[in-house]
Amino acid sequence: MILCSQIEGYLAKSSWIRRMFETGIELKKKYGAENVYDFSLGNPDLAPPAAVAEGLRELAEDAGKPFAFGYMPNAGYPQVRERLAEVVSVEQGVAVSAEDLVVTCGAAGGINALFRAVLEPGDEVLCPAPYFVEYGFYAENHRGVLKAVPSKPLTFELDLKALASAISDRTRCVLINSPNNPTGRIYSLEELSQLADILRQASARTGRPILLISDEPYRFLAYDGTEVPAIFPIYEHSVVISSFSKNLALAGERVGYVAVNPAMPEGAHLVAGVILANRILGFVNAPAVGQKLLAKALGHEVDASVYARRRDAMAEVLREAGIEFSMPQGAFYFFPRIPKGGDDAAFVNELMQEQILAVPGSGFGYPGFFRLAFCVDESTIRGAAPGFARAVAKALG
Ligand code: PLP
Repeated sequence: MILCSQIEGYLAKSSWIRRMFETGIELKKKYGAENVYDFSLGNPDLAPPAAVAEGLRELAEDAGKPFAFGYMPNAGYPQVRERLAEVVSVEQGVAVSAEDLVVTCGAAGGINALFRAVLEPGDEVLCPAPYFVEYGFYAENHRGVLKAVPSKPLTFELDLKALASAISDRTRCVLINSPNNPTGRIYSLEELSQLADILRQASARTGRPILLISDEPYRFLAYDGTEVPAIFPIYEHSVVISSFSKNLALAGERVGYVAVNPAMPEGAHLVAGVILANRILGFVNAPAVGQKLLAKALGHEVDASVYARRRDAMAEVLREAGIEFSMPQGAFYFFPRIPKGGDDAAFVNELMQEQILAVPGSGFGYPGFFRLAFCVDESTIRGAAPGFARAVAKALG
């Protein structure tokens, strides 16, 4: 066997994802891309804001100079950390300094560097389900175990009682994501404050501080004026991880950050650990071009009103098809219920017959639901309406 058994196992388990991806390509070849309604990928389709192109032109002027793209401090360019600290200070409502954060290869690189820095073998990462599927792999990359706790059906509120009773001596951190992929849920200040109380009590009991990690690449995308509460003011052992994949549409450029709560007593030590982990995982540092673009484009954003219109269009299409869902408060996903409580993979297959691509909820640790990403044109959303209606009619028998 050329692969290690763990990767071999992952490949076997994720074969349906590959199958769906391949089927998508086949469908597009057969029917034409405009007749395939692909809601399977959370890949932002909007153009980056103009500041990115302007920044790139300025960068090109310096590209001939020595060290233009050379090694740098592993934590990132000092001026980029300074700018990021200003942004995070505003978002979190507390003074964050450049020394409190590390520039990483996206949010994904940030979570991996953090896990590498804090997990002992067998440590548990507690996480509300449904959750971003990669979390499980990230925990296992660093000898941890992801322990998922189902959120309350349809509203996807945190099940605080269940989370509290899932905490064990091995719980090293709780990983939340708000606005949430795949549900679009934004956790309220009250929910988060109650979670913070639970973690404080549990930390006192186990004698080891439990970290609260907030993965928030969709913070910029909250609808109807909903606030995305800051976690630094409510829990001192907290860490914010984010990226510019979605708000600047720079997903391929791999820039993000890990920001450690300045109120954390061991904060400086944790930052030192994350910087080292970032280096020895082979990331070394976040990409030079991405960081320099960031310095130019911070404060600009893709046009979020486009997503708001698409959300309304998708809600209309699903409502007309008789599909039950809770309106996403943020991000660009719907996570509706399978009609008649049926099997999610079977319904997703049914949708595929209608050239509609979606992802079964089982892929997010939450069967009985499915995810639709609306990073697609409004015409694709509206064009899928008859297919949704037919698939539901079949499911209802
Ligand atoms: N966390 C969540 C919830 C995501 O949805 C994604 C990407 O879709 C990531 C992390 C990874 O983000 P990045 O591409 O910035 O590493």
